[in-house]
Amino acid sequence: MGRIAVVGGIVLNPETGTSDRSDLVLDDGVLVDERPDGSEQHLDATDCYVCPGFIDLHTHVFNHPEYGAGRVAADRIGVDQGVAVVVDAGSSGAVTIDAFPEVVLNTQKTRVFAFINIGSPGLPDLGGGHASRPELCDLDGVVKAFERHGDWLVGVKVLASQSHTGSFGLTAVKLARKAAELVGRPLMLHVGNAPPLIDDVLDLLRAGDIVTHTYHGKVGGVLGYRDRVIPAFVEAVQRGVIVDLGHGRSSFSFRVCELALEQGMPLHTISSDLHRGNVDRYAVSLSRTMTKLRMLGLSLADVVEKVTLAPARAIGIDTQGFGTVTPGRCRALTIFRERQAAMELEDAEGVVRKAEQIVEPVGVVLDGRFHPLAAPV
Ligand SMILES: [Zn+2]
Repeated sequence: MGRIAVVGGIVLNPETGTSDRSDLVLDDGVLVDERPDGSEQHLDATDCYVCPGFIDLHTHVFNHPEYGAGRVAADRIGVDQGVAVVVDAGSSGAVTIDAFPEVVLNTQKTRVFAFINIGSPGLPDLGGGHASRPELCDLDGVVKAFERHGDWLVGVKVLASQSHTGSFGLTAVKLARKAAELVGRPLMLHVGNAPPLIDDVLDLLRAGDIVTHTYHGKVGGVLGYRDRVIPAFVEAVQRGVIVDLGHGRSSFSFRVCELALEQGMPLHTISSDLHRGNVDRYAVSLSRTMTKLRMLGLSLADVVEKVTLAPARAIGIDTQGFGTVTPGRCRALTIFRERQAAMELEDAEGVVRKAEQIVEPVGVVLDGRFHPLAAPV
């Protein structure tokens, strides 16, 4: 792999909250506590920030010819857009998961992890299909999948919204929670249109579980009467549930997010929910989603922490060299700029607001290689 030096950038460290201009050297893929000696591949990061490799906690990259309608290739929204790690959020289930290494892990340069869907087909069609029907939920199949694929499976996914659960109630959510308990990993819960009621599904979540699409703009979300945050959401947050964004095609509202943040609610992780249906419009990229949160008033350090250290800890990959810039551990870096420029930003409700500065990746260092930006962001 050789040596790579990233020179002249401002290093943002989400573990310490510090930012310092310094040169970084990676040897054999790992950050080392050494100065550049001229033998390295030289990457000029002047006028740039350098931080742990971006992690997108919610994507759909199971790009299978038979089961993969609606997915994108991991590299298209990963290293090509300045993102080191993408996490597939339940595109495959017990029936389809064995194809994941051949189709995704062995073909993509981006590092990929996955949540397995409690519904055995996964998401055969992202347009719906009731993947969370009780008879399709496969507790046994999910637990056994972790025995075969526990090194890259990071949790269990369940979709609890009308388009996926229909009128089948909470059975899928309860089975998914049980599966997560049996394998000792987090549950990722998708919320959307009722039924089921968001209050009921949030009550089932435990510390470390992740709720995604949290700030969607549909009726019956985390805002209740007169836009006050509902008690079930406050209690879930107090129990230690992780709040994820999951922008998607119809799952992020500037207004809902803003009102929830104003009432002291958190946003722990920023993710895109990118798939074929929102990569050209709406979500577009993880960095575009970061730009939207900057526009809503979050600091740069805060936004970076929510795409690096926070998602790494949420799925336990902080021990594998992600989410950190500590020498001896760090294996991935993203180099990016924040450029002053006007941009129109559209949320998943079609509401447009204006940004005056844009988060713009330059590239990713991952597994001892530099991957320059290669797709629109
Ligand atoms: Zn999704």
